[in-house]
Amino acid sequence: MNVDLHCHTNLSDGALSPEQLVDLAAQRGVDMLAITDHDSIACYAQITPSTSNIKIITGIEFSTTWRNRGVHIVGLNLDLADSALLQGVNRQSSARTQRAQKIAEKLQGFGFENCLEGAEKYTDGGQLGRPHFARYLVEIGAVTTVQQAFKRYLGAGKAGDIKQQWAGLEEVIAWIRGAGGVAVLAHPTKYNMTRTKLSELLEEFVALGGEGVEVISGSQSPSVTQSMAALCQQFGLLASCGSDFHSPEQPWAALGKVPALPSNCQPVWSRWLEQKH
Ligand code: MN
Ligand code: MN
Ligand code: MN
Repeated sequence: MNVDLHCHTNLSDGALSPEQLVDLAAQRGVDMLAITDHDSIACYAQITPSTSNIKIITGIEFSTTWRNRGVHIVGLNLDLADSALLQGVNRQSSARTQRAQKIAEKLQGFGFENCLEGAEKYTDGGQLGRPHFARYLVEIGAVTTVQQAFKRYLGAGKAGDIKQQWAGLEEVIAWIRGAGGVAVLAHPTKYNMTRTKLSELLEEFVALGGEGVEVISGSQSPSVTQSMAALCQQFGLLASCGSDFHSPEQPWAALGKVPALPSNCQPVWSRWLEQKH
C-alpha cells in the first residue's frame, strides 16, 4: 500500500492547490493520503473525496514548543467539526499572524523593508510562513537562494526564528485527541536533538497522550529509519510515514514516494482500518 500522511498545499506553504495535490497523489499511485497543512484544515473544504480512489485521512501539522524548541505535531484522522479543534486552529492562526509581524520587524532591523507585504504576495491567500519571507528576500536580492535565507535570517536560532507564541505540547495533543485523532511527532530527526533529548521529548509526549511518531519523513537513509523504528518500539508508539511534500521542485520530499515502514512497526493506519470492521 502506498501511504503518504504528511504533505502541504498552497493554503500553507506548499506550491499546489488541494485539488492539484490530490491529482498528483493519484498519478503517483497513492492509496492513502493525509494533507497536513501548518495549523490549518482549510484544504479539506476544497477537496471532493468522490473524485479519486484515494482514501483521504484528515490531518494537520501543529506548531508547538517544547523546552523552548520548535516542535511539530501531526494530527491524523480528525473530526474537522470538533469545536475545540476549530478554536485551537483559530488560535494558532492568530499566533501565526503575530509571528509574521515579528519576523517582518526583525528583518527590518537588517534593513529589509516591507517584508510583510512582500511575503504575503507569495501565500496564494493562505497562511504566512517563513518560506514566504525567504522567497521575498530572494526577490529583493538580500540573499540568492531560499536556503540561504533560512541559513542567515529565518532558520533555527536565527533572528527570524520566532516561536514562543504557539500553544504548548499538552494543549495541541489535547485538541487532536479531543477530535478523535492520533497525535504523531513529526520528523523527529529535524530538531537537532541528541538521542537523550529526543527520548525525553517522547517520554513527555507519550505521557500527554501522544500515540505516534514519523518513522519515515521524506528521503532518509535506511539507518535513520531503523533508528526511528527502534524509538517507536521503545515507547510503544504507532508508526507513521510521509513525504513532507511542499513542491515538485523538492525531489527529496516527493509526494507518494515514501518507502515502506519496517516490518517491526505497527502502522498508524492499522488503527482506523480496524475501525471499519
Ligand atoms: Mn512547511
Ligand atoms: Mn514540520
Ligand atoms: Mn510539514
